[in-house]
Amino acid sequence: MSTAQTLSIGGQWQAAASGAEFDTLDPATGQPHARCSEASGADVDAAVGAARSALHSAEWGGLTPAQRARVLWRIGDLIEEHAEELAALETRDQGQPLGVAHAISVAGAAEHFRYYAGWVTKIAGETEPVSIPGVFQYTRREPVGVCALITPWNFPLLIASWKIAPALACGNTVVVKPAEQTPMTTVRLVELCQEAGIPAGVVNLLTGGAETGRALIDHPGVDKVSFTGSTEVGREIVRAAAGNLKRVSLELGGKTPILVLADADLDAAVAGTLQGALVNSGQVCAAYSRFYVHRSIADEFAERLAKAAQAVPIGPGNDPAAQLGPLVTAEHRANVDALVRSGIEQGATLLTGGSEVADRAGFFYQPTVFTDVRDDMRIAREEIFGPVLAVLPFDDEDDAIARANDSEYGLAASVWTRDIARAHRVSHAIRSGTVFVNMPNPVDAAAPWGGFRSSGWGREMGRGAIDLYTETKSVWVSLA
Ligand code: NAD
Repeated sequence: MSTAQTLSIGGQWQAAASGAEFDTLDPATGQPHARCSEASGADVDAAVGAARSALHSAEWGGLTPAQRARVLWRIGDLIEEHAEELAALETRDQGQPLGVAHAISVAGAAEHFRYYAGWVTKIAGETEPVSIPGVFQYTRREPVGVCALITPWNFPLLIASWKIAPALACGNTVVVKPAEQTPMTTVRLVELCQEAGIPAGVVNLLTGGAETGRALIDHPGVDKVSFTGSTEVGREIVRAAAGNLKRVSLELGGKTPILVLADADLDAAVAGTLQGALVNSGQVCAAYSRFYVHRSIADEFAERLAKAAQAVPIGPGNDPAAQLGPLVTAEHRANVDALVRSGIEQGATLLTGGSEVADRAGFFYQPTVFTDVRDDMRIAREEIFGPVLAVLPFDDEDDAIARANDSEYGLAASVWTRDIARAHRVSHAIRSGTVFVNMPNPVDAAAPWGGFRSSGWGREMGRGAIDLYTETKSVWVSLA
């Protein structure tokens, strides 16, 4: 068997110094489909060193903003030119239906590079009206330095792009560490960055698992960490970053509440919330999860939701008819199933689903709808990250808002009503980074994304990411 060379350090593709490797599986079959190098301390050291050397190089640090913008735009073009290949690879590695891989992962990745290509020539400082006579003061936005970018397995290509594009736009260099379950589209993205003309050492890639991530976070040569993943690991990262006080931004877990008010358009609410719950098999940080439905319509809503969920075609992502693909690993499916079992044991009523899909080799799980769910049940409190929906009736709007806000998370929420004043009022009362009114839960490069409370620190996308990847320097000049 040939040696895997999935580390890119200083522009060179290579195996891990230790020779360690691991397999990545196709979630639709459960079979290995690619082999990767598993980076450890020596590789981390080399990658951080390469990123440090490239930071102020003539080839990168010396580029004008217009030149840097052109390279980013070219990466977007190359992603688009390789859309078929990237979508097929994402489906194979992650399991998502091909339509999702095309429309969300690949198209979103290309758009992120183009959006931040546009920003490069607009990252400006300011002159402040200081009250000290005889001086000129202004600010510059400078790169933070070497950025460690650590991504999860649910949207590997897209989330890598959320981080790489703004980091490069601001002139940083990066070391990317994709999730061990789904590294392959990030490997391809780094190749495309090189093809687009990103100089050696600017984008380095380390494949590997939690230990690789830990070694990267601990490294004193890293100036900033951008992490998307679980809240538990987010906390560990904050502790580990304390050594040299790395800048840290975190996109963590969620437990999205949906408020379906008595005057909601029920047809639209059933269709829109189901889409928001089941996209990528519910493996979405903002997946619609806790359905607070006014008691007058709760039974009808739950029944219609369950019927619609039952009708969703399940199958491998490369089957054009499939809308619900497998979960990412057998381990994750077991976690989802354990939470479903807890719902049954704690007394919720199972309307549909509740088990694996029989007679399928991969990691499939049936869309599952519970009703009669209480706020203290695990399925109402814990992030499930799978196709599991919990309906909780409410009587009073203020009470529903208080219950929706009673969560350690605060990433996203959704409100369904025909009353426009009410829609705004409830949106303002919800404590979360994003509120979707009468719609599912998309993201867009231009709109800020991030969480309140334990859902994270900082905002990716939009102008917010420019703040995450720059330091502000104040320069004072005597005019005497
Ligand atoms: P995870 O936290 O287990 O792993 C995420 C990444 O961190 C992986 O690359 C992993 O190898 C690495 N890692 C694990 N332990 C580490 C450590 N101690 N130090 C450094 N790196 C470490 O998360 P996951 O299971 O891959 O992804 C699912 C989670 O991601 C869910 O909680 C989901 O809500 C969250 N998520 C959040 C967003 C968002 O935008 N807020 C988006 C997608 C996913």
